[in-house]
Amino acid sequence: MNSYSIGIDLGGTKILTVLADKKTGEVLSFVKVKTKKDKGSDKLIKKIIKSVKEVIIAADKKLSEIENIGMGAAGQTDRQNGIIINAPNIGLQNVPIKEILEKEFSKPVYLGNDVEVATIGEILFGSGKGETDFVCIFAGTGVGSCIVQNGKIRYGATGSAGEIGHIIIEPNGRLCGCGAKGCLEAYASRLAIERKIRAELNRGVNSDIINYMKEDKPIKTAMLKKALENNDKTVIDVLDETCFYLSLGIASIINFYNPSKIILGGGLINGIDYFYEKTVKLAKENSLAVPSREIVFERAQLGDFSGAVGAAMLADYREIFLDDKNC
Ligand SMILES: [Zn+2]
Repeated sequence: MNSYSIGIDLGGTKILTVLADKKTGEVLSFVKVKTKKDKGSDKLIKKIIKSVKEVIIAADKKLSEIENIGMGAAGQTDRQNGIIINAPNIGLQNVPIKEILEKEFSKPVYLGNDVEVATIGEILFGSGKGETDFVCIFAGTGVGSCIVQNGKIRYGATGSAGEIGHIIIEPNGRLCGCGAKGCLEAYASRLAIERKIRAELNRGVNSDIINYMKEDKPIKTAMLKKALENNDKTVIDVLDETCFYLSLGIASIINFYNPSKIILGGGLINGIDYFYEKTVKLAKENSLAVPSREIVFERAQLGDFSGAVGAAMLADYREIFLDDKNC
């Protein structure tokens, strides 16, 4: 008999909820809704609960057929107690999401962070299948990574291993959300690209992107792609700079960890071929000769669904690796 679980990817700009087959990872239904920081945590929690109910109906299943619920949240999480400690992009602080969802659905709820669950999705059903030593790097609203060693996620001494977004790549550079200056995330995320483009426009530079932008709305990956297709010089220059900085972070990982594979994912990578190809080329150029010759780059096979599918598998994954104290 098939068994099903629900996975929720709580990202910086959207909530993607899926109902997945636990054995095959197949997505039977999904719901995608936008998140807005200013609307408060109560509204956001209501949206999450509604999404869970909707995917069950859309897949023509009953709650009784669901084994458990998993969630990956962008930000700092308390995995053991299921609390979102701080998710600055969506304005959540100290939200006991496990307790809230368990009360609502009477199902076990598991919480991880967004990069962790996306990596689990890739380990079980995507580009990481059959691999033992690799690193997943996701570039989207922010920049994050996850280290896989001997087929297991490395959580580190306090559970924060893989914070590639906070590698300092520019001394005294741009201020990062973490409080430090010159972090990779301040240069290689969609938010960083957006800030740079807006600054260029304010300087009076001409750009095609102005035709796709909506005043106070985020600059989406699709808009960047469109401007790129129209050979917009401003957008090309900003993307080139972003790829260069991201490649420096990736090259450092190649030199330090010597993984056999790097899986790249996240909105910018999934959405823009040029961004992926340029980043890979520069990362190879900027890393040591031997590891860069051998390394294999691959895009996250599950694309935008890595996180939600991985979240649905969080309980099973933890069961396999229950010995890990930080898991
Ligand atoms: Zn930082």
